[in-house]
Amino acid sequence: MRKTKIVATLSSKISYSILREMAKIFDCARINLSHGTFDDYKYIVDSIRQIEKQVNKYIPILFDLSGPKIRVTSINNVDSVNRGDKIILSKEPTDRGIMINFPEIIDHLKEGHRIYIDDGKIRFKVKEIKRGFVILECLTKGIISLKKGVNFPDTKLPLPSLTEKDIDDIKIIKELDGDFVALSFVRHKNDILELREELQKNDLNIPIIAKIERPEAIPILNEIIDVSDGIMVARGDLGVELSLEKVPIIQKKIIELCREKGKPVIVATQILETMVDKPEPTRAEVSDIANAIFDGCDALMLSGETAYGQYPIESLKVLDSVSKETELHLKEQKIISIEDYHFLKGDPTSAIAFSAVNTALNLNAKAIVCFTVSGHTASLISKFRPKKTVYAVSYKISTLRKVCLFYGVQPLKVKKSSNTDDLMYEMEKSILKNSKLKEKDLIIMTIGIPVAEEGNTNILKIHNLGGYLPYKAKKLLNKKMRV
Ligand code: PGA
Ligand code: MN
Repeated sequence: MRKTKIVATLSSKISYSILREMAKIFDCARINLSHGTFDDYKYIVDSIRQIEKQVNKYIPILFDLSGPKIRVTSINNVDSVNRGDKIILSKEPTDRGIMINFPEIIDHLKEGHRIYIDDGKIRFKVKEIKRGFVILECLTKGIISLKKGVNFPDTKLPLPSLTEKDIDDIKIIKELDGDFVALSFVRHKNDILELREELQKNDLNIPIIAKIERPEAIPILNEIIDVSDGIMVARGDLGVELSLEKVPIIQKKIIELCREKGKPVIVATQILETMVDKPEPTRAEVSDIANAIFDGCDALMLSGETAYGQYPIESLKVLDSVSKETELHLKEQKIISIEDYHFLKGDPTSAIAFSAVNTALNLNAKAIVCFTVSGHTASLISKFRPKKTVYAVSYKISTLRKVCLFYGVQPLKVKKSSNTDDLMYEMEKSILKNSKLKEKDLIIMTIGIPVAEEGNTNILKIHNLGGYLPYKAKKLLNKKMRV
């Protein structure tokens, strides 16, 4: 079973039958709120919810808020530009220029500042500052099109972290019952706290993924990771906002910090860019996938490859097979030392997670099975990257979907139980029915007593599967004898 998770960006242009084939491979569906209408998003969500039942797996949906994403909103007579051309960036329409969705930025530009359109494909420099507009000199040849992203790598941006559009989009996420929300262009930990407050106002309690793609976020990664529930290494904008050569090392640093702090981390963008219009990836792309896995990411994300590419299923198949092959060559797991994980000290759930992984290794157990209400125990176990599969058992559908993003974790549904023996029995029943494990297999189980209380993992059991099966029969028999 593949352990590295795959996030696929979807669009309403994909037919239901293709979506269904894709969903057999990917683990999490991403909807980019920068493109599309409510009806587009509803089509994707309704389809995924239906497909979930058909293919018998849990599929979380991640909604990606645009944040202060700057875009071209109007173009006048400058569709195609050549090196040396001068164009105007203005607040009001002009004869030969462009406008953007945050015109207030114009007042913060200085001579020499760089302006990049379409992920840096078209580049300009500020030549002259005028009142209410600036003159830009074109440094590359290219075609400007509407809605393309604009980056200002040298400018301190006077932008809100949550835009009015984001606040409206949160209502859409609530209505369509999203499982994760990602925030673009995070610059400060308050951006995440503000979003959480806004989610609460909408009675929405879902994990927040911070997208790291602005230079301001790099010196304060620790703070941002601490307040987020997960991180995305958003290499697209990161590569434009910072210089490209810094991206690989920032990727490694973010992944390392996320692993230490027990937060899931997604590596995104240009994973299989070539496959947007070609049936084969480049060798470099395949190596990049393997290296992200060696770095220790939880998940890899496809964008255009699946959203509008010509080879969505083939792209997923490549990602699936490269991940599986790479995982065979990850370092052999050793007994872990608590010294390596300072953040774990003093917290019962972490102590159990740590012991479960070491005990499983020591006894060569077939799997680790953890009961989890919120998914927290599963994420902590996953962070140690045990070689054997981790089954996250829960009665909550939202939790079963959430754990799909964690490296090496598989969700298993159980009936809600009111006492420990009933829970153990239900867990065994679910494992034997839904996994490859068999009776008598040795597994490591973690649960919390009293059962079904959140944040309460406090028991580790070394268990031979099947031990609780006669329990129910006995219980039924006792009941009969009493009547
Ligand atoms: P985007 O984020 O696709 O929303 O821009 C990912 C990235 O920038 O890499
Ligand atoms: Mn981005």
